[in-house]
This record gives sequence, structure tokens and C-alpha cells, in this order.
Amino acid sequence: MPEGDVVWRTARRLHAALAGREVLSSDLRWPSLATADLSGRDVLEVVSAGKHLLTRLAGTAGEAPLTLHSHLRMEGSWYVERTGSDGNGRRSASGVRAVLVTAAWTAVGHRLGVLELVPTAAEGDLVGHLGPDLLGPGWDTAEARRRLLAAPGRALGEALLDQRVLAGVGTFYMAEACFLAGVSPWTPVGDLPDPAAFLRLVHRLLDANKDRVQQVTTGDLRRGRQNYAHARSGLPCLRCGTTVRVALIGRAPQERTAFYCPRCQPGPAPTDDGRAQQPLGAQPRRRAHASAARPAYRARR
Ligand SMILES: [Zn+2]
Repeated sequence: MPEGDVVWRTARRLHAALAGREVLSSDLRWPSLATADLSGRDVLEVVSAGKHLLTRLAGTAGEAPLTLHSHLRMEGSWYVERTGSDGNGRRSASGVRAVLVTAAWTAVGHRLGVLELVPTAAEGDLVGHLGPDLLGPGWDTAEARRRLLAAPGRALGEALLDQRVLAGVGTFYMAEACFLAGVSPWTPVGDLPDPAAFLRLVHRLLDANKDRVQQVTTGDLRRGRQNYAHARSGLPCLRCGTTVRVALIGRAPQERTAFYCPRCQPGPAPTDDGRAQQPLGAQPRRRAHASAARPAYRARR
């Protein structure tokens, strides 16, 4: 799932291609937007707010400025293509949800999780609830700390994933930040020895990765050594050799996966069933009665 750094980079790419240019035609393949027409509007800017993308369009005679709001959710992306090209096979035609055509560049939103159009003046309704944006110009450690500690008994990993606390963290940075801090993701936030230092660490992680495609938290660019915990269940911890584990964190139905090293990150892990696990994305061992829907990390015993 794209996290704040990916969304930040997407906004920058879209901004470079579209800002200052007139939309010549648009095609929003979204039920509620089927009749919307953005042609004739200039793109003012494209910015990210946490994991949200805001494409701001100038007003036209008698009509207010608009913001096209999109969210990548699990598998969305925006492609920037030369106007008139066919995407070079990088994307499926059936996945296209939005097309913004300018003279030079065309932006294509693919498998977007959210697409909506609002008056720019009403953007606050979309993103006003977000906590400080880790990659925004107004990142505020003190405000993020205040929001983090508002519920001292809440599990750290769950709080980090809550975009109302701080905006931009997904399961990757949650796992890596907890590893680097040496705390279990289930540690109550009120037990963190130095919450402000922890938040500065999270900020540094995203900031260091915002300009590169590979997400690296170890400083080692070699394949398989780029990060400590996320998606490494069943593999030896790069630091201590103990098997990295994964369990669900958060409340149903919004549980997410939390990867951690039980030795480097002592503390509670309440939903870990103790069974052998595999790295995320590994092929589950075939079992006659195994359910296809069963998560890979639980398929081995
Ligand atoms: Zn370890």
C-alpha cells in the first residue's frame, strides 16, 4: 500500500507535468463524476496531504475553483504519459479511473481508491481531520505528540496508522519505526520513553525516502536487506537472527499487519498465534484443506 512518501512523490510528478497547464479534456470514470468536465480549467497545483492527493484547478467564468481529490488506497497509481501515447503497456485500460489531458502531458489515474470533486474552499472537509503531515510544509512534532498521547493506553502501531494522529504512515513505516526504536508495536503509547524522539525518527524515515523509489530503512541498498521487519516474517532478523514475526494489530474490522522481531522489540503481541510464518508474499505451502483466502503468513504451521 502506498505510504506518505509514495504519495508525496506522485504529487510532485503530477505537479511537474500539469501545473500551469490547461486541461484540454477530462474523463472521470467514476459513477458520481460521470458528467463532470474539467476542460478549460488551468491546473494550479498538485499537492499531497498525508496519503491524499489534491489536484487544484482554477475557476472558470462564474464557477469556483475545484479540487480533484484522489486516494491510492491499496493499488492505485497515477501515470504521466505523453499526450497521445497509449501508456506503453504499463497499465490496463480497464483500470483507468481518471484522465486529464493537457497539450504536452496526460495524467492517468489507475485503480484509484477514491475520486471526488469538491470546491477548493471545501477541501477541509476531506483532509481537515488529518494529523500533522509528515511530509507537509507544516510538520509539527509537538502537535503530533499531543495527538499521539491523547489515548495513552492505545497500542503504538495502531496509533501510528491512524491518520488523525499523524498523516502518512502505513504498515511499512510503522513496522520499521518500531523496530528502530526497539519497541513492540503493541506498546501502549503512554509507555514510550520519549515520544517526541520517536516522532522525529518517523519523520526522518519518510523524509529520507521521499526522493527514492526503493524504501530503505537499514542504509543497505542490497535486495533483501533494505528494511528490518516489514514483510520479513519467518526470516532471521538482520540484527539478532531471531525469526521475525507478524500479527494483526488494531480493532476489527480495521486490523492491519504488524511485523516485528520479538527479541529486538520486547513487549506484548496479543494476536500472535505462535505458529511458524512466512515472509509476506511468499507462496503458501499447498494444503489439501487450506483456504485460498487464508493470509500467507498463517498458512504454515
Ligand atoms: Zn532482532
